[in-house]
Amino acid sequence: MTIRTRFAPSPTGHVHIGNMRAAIFNWLYARHTGGEFLLRVEDTDRERSTPEAIKTLLEAMDWLGLNVDEAPLYQSTRMDAHLAAAERLLATGHAYKEDKGGTGQGECIIFKMPGTDIEFTDLVKGTLKKTAADMADFVIVRSNGTPVFHLANVLDDIEQKITHVIRGDDHVENTFRHIALYKALGAPVPEFAHLPMIINAQGKPYSKRDGDAFVGDFQSKGFFGDALFNYLALLGWSPGDEREVMTRQEMIDAFDLVTVRSSPAQMDSRKLLWMNGEYMRAMKPADFSALCRNELFAAGVKPGCSADAVFALMQERTKLPSEIVPATAFFFSDDFEYDQKAVEKKLAKPETFQTLEKIAGILQTLEAFDSETVNKALHDFVEQGGLKFGDVMPPLRIAVSGQQSGPDLAPVLAILGKETVLARIRGTIVRFNV
Ligand code: GLU
Repeated sequence: MTIRTRFAPSPTGHVHIGNMRAAIFNWLYARHTGGEFLLRVEDTDRERSTPEAIKTLLEAMDWLGLNVDEAPLYQSTRMDAHLAAAERLLATGHAYKEDKGGTGQGECIIFKMPGTDIEFTDLVKGTLKKTAADMADFVIVRSNGTPVFHLANVLDDIEQKITHVIRGDDHVENTFRHIALYKALGAPVPEFAHLPMIINAQGKPYSKRDGDAFVGDFQSKGFFGDALFNYLALLGWSPGDEREVMTRQEMIDAFDLVTVRSSPAQMDSRKLLWMNGEYMRAMKPADFSALCRNELFAAGVKPGCSADAVFALMQERTKLPSEIVPATAFFFSDDFEYDQKAVEKKLAKPETFQTLEKIAGILQTLEAFDSETVNKALHDFVEQGGLKFGDVMPPLRIAVSGQQSGPDLAPVLAILGKETVLARIRGTIVRFNV
């Protein structure tokens, strides 16, 4: 049997990471088992499922590399098939018509539950059961003649020959009804795997109010599709060992539904940021340089000839492209901004300026100005003067970069070069030693 999974979103113009995580698990399971991954666009809500909303959905999947094995099925094209099936259910006695509320506005079609308990083994949650008394008959075609989600969803899964329905656990309750529908329709019941919710720090479903929640938010912030994929794959699943940063193939090899956790997974945007930084580090230096150059040019900063040395210094500490310009612009222009808070905190005491003056004097005497020589000179200065690194390095960093933090200072000074460093230290003294 070929395993066939599907992603069945209702496009709304935004793709929530919870939905995308379901898509990723479906994709991984299909790829792991050598099966097929399909897309069904549940676009029956024509007001929300606009062409733009569908485009957003397809672009998000593309960005994350979720390739499909067949043309997408658009649910809205299947209305006749859904209504025909409802007629069959009427004919076989599995459904009946009723004028709900007696409004005279037409009859709806109601599915008759079998009157027996329903039990199934969820591949994530284990055995789930509901008694007959807890399951009421339900509408499958509204009085206005439109099919209801349950009917459309089940019929389309039958049409697409889905063997494994992997979806959010907000659908567990629906699944009991769906199983009854499959049986009444004489179709094989697929396997089900219900994924735990993605929650916020308070244990509530993670939403836009908690921070970025849509795939597009992360894309526009410069996250890598591969990093978001990797992060979301680990929300509720792990390979069973310590690995976190994994290639697509490693995830495909290790993925299985039995190792999906049944407890909710907490969204941790710091970890996602860390993950993105890991992907940034893994870039080829030339690609990272190209990324930096694009960012800088877009911000009107022209990277000078020392640029590649700067980028090499930045690669391991950069997590998002948006960090590049603020972190490196001072290398390429003397017209940099001082972090006001840093200035107030670290350039407050008169002795700090005396220290800076002394450092300038020492650096001036250096014949070579490579990172090692500079580093040794600074260390000697601190140690011989019985000073503290914390009193010396931060003011020096602010003096040459305007910033409180950044890569190792000695290579920064070496890249800037002696003349620039001395001019900046002296400029800072003149400017702030009031
Ligand atoms: N359109 C439904 C949703 O997005 C489909 C659920 C499913 O069966 O996967 O919640």
